[in-house]
Amino acid sequence: MDLPEGLKLIDENGKRLDGRRPDELRPIKIEAGVLKRADGSAYVEMGKNKILAAVYGPRECHPRHLQDPSKAIVQCAYNMLSFSVDDRKRPGPDRRSIEISKILSEALERVVFLEQFPRTSIDVYIAVLQANAGTRCAGLTAASVALADAGIPMRDLVPACAAGKVADTIVLDLNKEEDNFGQADLPLAYLPRTGEILLLQMDGHMTQDEFERAVELAKGGCSRIYALQQEALKRKYSVIVSEEESKAGEVS
Ligand code: ADP
Repeated sequence: MDLPEGLKLIDENGKRLDGRRPDELRPIKIEAGVLKRADGSAYVEMGKNKILAAVYGPRECHPRHLQDPSKAIVQCAYNMLSFSVDDRKRPGPDRRSIEISKILSEALERVVFLEQFPRTSIDVYIAVLQANAGTRCAGLTAASVALADAGIPMRDLVPACAAGKVADTIVLDLNKEEDNFGQADLPLAYLPRTGEILLLQMDGHMTQDEFERAVELAKGGCSRIYALQQEALKRKYSVIVSEEESKAGEVS
């Protein structure tokens, strides 16, 4: 698709369409524990993306042939709702959502202590309420906060964000216009504490040097998101602890 007339992805001041510098993330909001009936949940806004993640389990694995006697499995279901994009999206699974569900399950299986829950499934539902590029990353960011909120033992949270190439510039966290009209998109999930990469995909073309710069930029974005994930969990649980303390105070 060609860039519409007059639209400049990077202007003469080096700013992007939404006013960001190349190394800036979109505004991010993360909230833990937003749903009462799920075992764990999280809500994430990343720019215009709005994403809800809910976790159930560990519970008996269905279908049963997927049961593993030595460990749990993580079953992610990424679902982009019909009203989440400009043209109504046909409901139900498609190739894209099956692919995204698979890569997100694989990334989360790398951090959960699966051996503690043999024969079970940990079900993670990701609902994209509003999409504006980068939903797999925002979905993974939300899912790992929801897993922590469910009290599932895991060795780390999983922050994710994309970097890419737009108008020959390496930029962080592409929005929809940049994703549509840019030259490359590279979603990445990275654990800042250990340096592990749990998800790396790429769409488009970059030179090796550009690729390396994009990976570094995305890693920096992940480190910032990681801090926000931790803050969201602290906010939720410090409130609960202080409520408990005040209740205890009332009784005594
Ligand atoms: P991601 O959301 O992880 O960046 P893609 O690169 O596949 O995944 O999609 C980029 C964006 O394109 C999505 O966030 C969404 O805004 C839009 N999009 C994806 N699939 C559809 C669809 N079936 N209909 C309309 N828009 C879509």
